[in-house]
Amino acid sequence: MVKVCSLFSGSSGNCIFISSGNTSILVDAGVSGRRIEEALTQIGESIKSISAILITHEHNDHISGAGILSRRHKIPIYANSGTWAAMRPFLGKLHPDHIRVTEVCSRFTIGDIDIRPFPIPHDAACPVGYNFFIEDKKITIATDIGHVNDELIGWLEKSHMILLESNHDIEMLKTGRYPWPLKKRIMGDFGHLCNEHTGKVVAHLAQNGTKFFLLGHLSKENNYPELAYQTVCNALVERQIYPDKDVFLDVAYRDRVSRMICI
Ligand SMILES: [Zn+2]
Ligand SMILES: [Zn+2]
Repeated sequence: MVKVCSLFSGSSGNCIFISSGNTSILVDAGVSGRRIEEALTQIGESIKSISAILITHEHNDHISGAGILSRRHKIPIYANSGTWAAMRPFLGKLHPDHIRVTEVCSRFTIGDIDIRPFPIPHDAACPVGYNFFIEDKKITIATDIGHVNDELIGWLEKSHMILLESNHDIEMLKTGRYPWPLKKRIMGDFGHLCNEHTGKVVAHLAQNGTKFFLLGHLSKENNYPELAYQTVCNALVERQIYPDKDVFLDVAYRDRVSRMICI
């Protein structure tokens, strides 16, 4: 059975747990090592069973706990060479065996999990999302997305489960207290995805067979879980797709673990 759980998701830190039952990995480690260890214990897992930490990109909310976890528990870190170059100075001393270099769009395997990193439009060195192929299931993690184009839709389609960014409400962002340059960055083609846009993408994917959706990377300032959920829910209902009946839709929280999704 495939298990997916968001331990932390949002602009203040990200860490997602994925397991095939035999192999368990983390995607990003953007809060302290201790908080990640505690969150794993809370869901009945242990940091000792984690085989790898995969990094999506070098922003602090994705890497701040990676170095310490790698040192403390001898866990290899996987990222592409662009991301390694950008994040290496911030991870501290690492054992050479724990530095694993991947290539965008090239598949690799950890235990019985097949993994494919794919490019995402975001203002980092070489940011990626990940497809996981476990048994006959495709699981996708895609956050920190400035805009969605046809190529990206191609990476997301046919997923059984997807954790997709639903970063901000556009009105909250526009009228909020962020300085204009930051607002411009978030709204830009290489910033973050707004609830409305996420709703359109979720509706499209649901029409094409995806059943499990977790909305993630919510902004603390410019969004709240009920609003993200409701906006995406409305987009689904407009197309006669009903959450709880036709699809599973839930929100990944910034500061606590999400519901465990078992497929
Ligand atoms: Zn981020
Ligand atoms: Zn980022």
